[in-house]
Amino acid sequence: MNCFGFIFATANLRNLKIKIVMAIIITDECINCGACEPECPNTAIYEGADDWRYNDGTSLDGTVVLPNGKEVDAAEAQEPISDEIYYIVPDKCTECQGFHEEPQCAAVCPVDCCVPDEDVVETEDELLGKQRFMHPED
Ligand code: SF4
Ligand code: SF4
Repeated sequence: MNCFGFIFATANLRNLKIKIVMAIIITDECINCGACEPECPNTAIYEGADDWRYNDGTSLDGTVVLPNGKEVDAAEAQEPISDEIYYIVPDKCTECQGFHEEPQCAAVCPVDCCVPDEDVVETEDELLGKQRFMHPED
């Protein structure tokens, strides 16, 4: 794409008012202090080597089809994403959309190792939809 094409594409994105955001990931600089875990409104943060579940801290129950089309058993224990450090489940992270103005894990982390995950790019609407899906009663 030449520079005019890039400018045009950027202008179109602005017109569409689509805000691109990313889920948060914990880097290997984590010191395992545990400060972030209780701050997550979606229970998306787990200690290294702990199993996780879709129904932990959410209203999900039984067999559910996630907004991304994946069918899961909400109560089934899932494999830890990390065995060594705290980790974030991308399917449960909404970047705190629907609850807070900013990611709470990043706000409390003493070593600034909660950062945007460039491999998990979502729009603000998608994140809000995920939040409403997990917490329809809120
Ligand atoms: S950004 Fe918010 S929802 Fe995502 S893991 Fe951190 S505290 Fe949880
Ligand atoms: S607050 Fe930061 S250092 Fe502490 S467990 Fe969470 S990610 Fe790791």
